[in-house]
Amino acid sequence: MQTVVIGGGAAGFFAAIQAAKIQGNNVLILEKSPNLLTKVRISGGGRCNVTHACFQTNELAKHYPRGEKALRKIFERFSPTETIAWFKQRGVALKTEADGRMFPTTDNSETIANCLIDAADSLKVVIKTRAEVLRIEPQKNYFDLEVKGIGQIKTHKLIVAAGGSPKLAGFDWLKRLGHQIIEPVPSLFTFNVPSHPLADLMGLSVPHAQVRIAGQKLLEKGPLLITHWGFSGPAVLRISAWGARILHGLNYTFQVSIAWLGTGREEEVGAILQNFRTMHPQKFVCTQSPSYQLPKRLWENLCKRGGIEENRKWVELSKQQVNKLQSLLTNDVFEVSGKTTFKEEFVTAGGVALSDVNFDTMQSRHVPNLYFAGEILDIDGITGGFNFQAAWSTAYVAGLLGE
Ligand SMILES: Cc1cc2nc3c(=O)[nH]c(=O)nc-3n(C[C@H](O)[C@H](O)[C@H](O)COP(=O)(O)OP(=O)(O)OC[C@H]3O[C@@H](n4cnc5c(N)ncnc54)[C@H](O)[C@@H]3O)c2cc1C
Repeated sequence: MQTVVIGGGAAGFFAAIQAAKIQGNNVLILEKSPNLLTKVRISGGGRCNVTHACFQTNELAKHYPRGEKALRKIFERFSPTETIAWFKQRGVALKTEADGRMFPTTDNSETIANCLIDAADSLKVVIKTRAEVLRIEPQKNYFDLEVKGIGQIKTHKLIVAAGGSPKLAGFDWLKRLGHQIIEPVPSLFTFNVPSHPLADLMGLSVPHAQVRIAGQKLLEKGPLLITHWGFSGPAVLRISAWGARILHGLNYTFQVSIAWLGTGREEEVGAILQNFRTMHPQKFVCTQSPSYQLPKRLWENLCKRGGIEENRKWVELSKQQVNKLQSLLTNDVFEVSGKTTFKEEFVTAGGVALSDVNFDTMQSRHVPNLYFAGEILDIDGITGGFNFQAAWSTAYVAGLLGE
């Protein structure tokens, strides 16, 4: 074989297609499971969030808690613009949602999986499933691969696109080739709050909240979702990604502070309360939220926890009551204990250390003719299509095989 790709996921297929285009039909994909493109198929709730409508390289790279610097270089060569064009050329149109996420217009991830399989097929890429690579033995000008159920395979070039692993031991076969492995930890998860005081508000979404982890420099703003087990939504998922290592170190036990109006500045919120009080002195506090950004049921809950009587009017609020509401609105603290995997999308932070990879080619700095692509690398993005974009971009460059 000229080139073997380990892994039949997004990165493996994309790299194999690119490699086959470059060097003719001598490319083989080895996939350990019986199925191909499993994550593509289940991704984005079955719709596959292929990429994100972010077309500035530097801006795009900022969405990666790990890998920002290395990816800047890669995105110069293959960015969402190229992803959109790549799929379009193969008859798959992508559409952009209001928040920038891009999906196939069919809203069906099978469209993406079929497109990748057809493209590989037309370039005569050979695919073997139930073919786990157990060992890589670099020889002078080629590699010997030990493949479960197949035996030995020789190849000149090797692209490793085997995805993330939750355990450090899952990387042993690459470690023994001299690569440093950054310990894997989960990213993109939601927070569990046992005996959740807001559990009866489950399903409620707050559009502009601020989420802060007490004692850490971790702060995110954006939509927050109250769930029956705790908190979810974009702001929580983003903070879970940026804080993946810190929160792992805290054993997922920490305090989260929520500012329901998106600001922790007491004077700003104090002014909102004061204005409302002046404008609507005779209205009942508990039934009249001071901001359209606060869902009614959340405001009722805050008033209850703030000890505001049901028949209290805005003009009658005592100084202490105003202070209590101000404090709950800017710094509502909850005890988090544990996490829940975000079903729509989750990734592993960690993997092959970026310092061991030449990002001009995606080639290993230790083993010539060995390339890496996708989640196997210590690269991960926040939700929104950024993880697939990293897979397409790194795979595109790896598939060029140094040319
Ligand atoms: C539920 C879910 C939903 C997601 N949704 C989105 C989304 O909408 N948008 C987004 O951007 N990201 C999403 N992601 C993240 C995204 O799916 C991954 O970042 C991406 O699939 C990584 O691609 P990959 O090819 O590097 O790895 P994988 O997709 O993990 O593929 C690696 C493949 O290699 C195979 N393999 C591993 N070891 C060996 C071996 N030794 N020999 C042979 N084969 C091997 C594995 O079986 C696997 O098939 C989601 C993830 C999950 C779990």
